[in-house]
Amino acid sequence: MPLPDKTLTCSDCGQEFLFSGDDQEFYQSRGFSEPKRCRSCRAQRRSERESGDGGAGGFNRPPRVEREMFEVTCSSCGNIARVPFQPRGDRPVYCRDCFDRVGGGGGGGRSSYNR
Ligand SMILES: [Zn+2]
Ligand SMILES: [Zn+2]
Repeated sequence: MPLPDKTLTCSDCGQEFLFSGDDQEFYQSRGFSEPKRCRSCRAQRRSERESGDGGAGGFNRPPRVEREMFEVTCSSCGNIARVPFQPRGDRPVYCRDCFDRVGGGGGGGRSSYNR
């Protein structure tokens, strides 16, 4: 049974905004209290918090994605290399140096950096 829509007043810009029944259900299921701000003010706050030092970049996300790294033995020089994917036994895996040298394209073999 859907909840009725509500109209709330944004505490930031003072405009009325709709708090729809769907949203209310969502908020309740998450244990959130009613939103105090309209959608656009919330989005603004969120983006301010995320970009941290006020970057206007938009798409310029900091490369802070911590991926799981796998240790492999380079097929070319035998050094330990760390790669961000689970190596498959049937493909050569190169360390960064050798990968640069091999070039990742053209000649022999497929590059293991291209998934
Ligand atoms: Zn607002
Ligand atoms: Zn190597």
